[in-house]
Amino acid sequence: MTTRLILATRNQHKVAELRDILGDAGLDVELVGADAYPEIPDVPETGITFAENALLKAHALARATGLPAVADDSGLCVDVLGGAPGILSARWSGKHGDDRANLDLLLAQLSDIAPEHRGAHFFCAAALALPDGTERVVEGRLLGTLRTEPAGAGGFGYDPILQPLGETRTCAELTPAEKNAISHRGQAFRALAPVLKDLIG
Ligand code: IMP
Repeated sequence: MTTRLILATRNQHKVAELRDILGDAGLDVELVGADAYPEIPDVPETGITFAENALLKAHALARATGLPAVADDSGLCVDVLGGAPGILSARWSGKHGDDRANLDLLLAQLSDIAPEHRGAHFFCAAALALPDGTERVVEGRLLGTLRTEPAGAGGFGYDPILQPLGETRTCAELTPAEKNAISHRGQAFRALAPVLKDLIG
């Protein structure tokens, strides 16, 4: 029997990305986004690590639906800032989800930092929670360096300033398929496939 699995996001691109990865891994699951359960409120991200926030969201959704639930939490970690913005990536400029303001503030903060010290990575924690409380967390990283000016029109968030190691383009200049193949979220979702196979597959 096909198992229903819920992903704690209303972003259909994330749902499609995980669905493709699980399909490639041969998993017989029906993946739905949180918008399939509009009556369930979003969970405040009160954790102080990516893993804590991903687990909070996954457990809340598993409890509310009685289904296995997956949640991810991600952000940009800058070496010279000791890992910031980190879990504060979406609200670095003070306003939640203002991608351009977040990126502009970060570039201004790093304006004096030389190219060899502009290392950064995208990080993603993906959590699986079962209704009985079982939990697993996996992670993924995309290493790169930060440009001094944004480049590219694709992607979202900090994509226009993160140039992956070994690339000459920023994440915002990659095609969605190119980014998914190397991204922190792609890596975490791919690491989740065998875990899901083991626990619910
Ligand atoms: P979320 O965990 O997907 O909600 O991401 C939190 C924040 O981290 C976003 O608002 C972005 O600022 C940043 N972020 C996470 N993943 C990416 C990415 O793949 N590209 C650019 N920014 C990202």
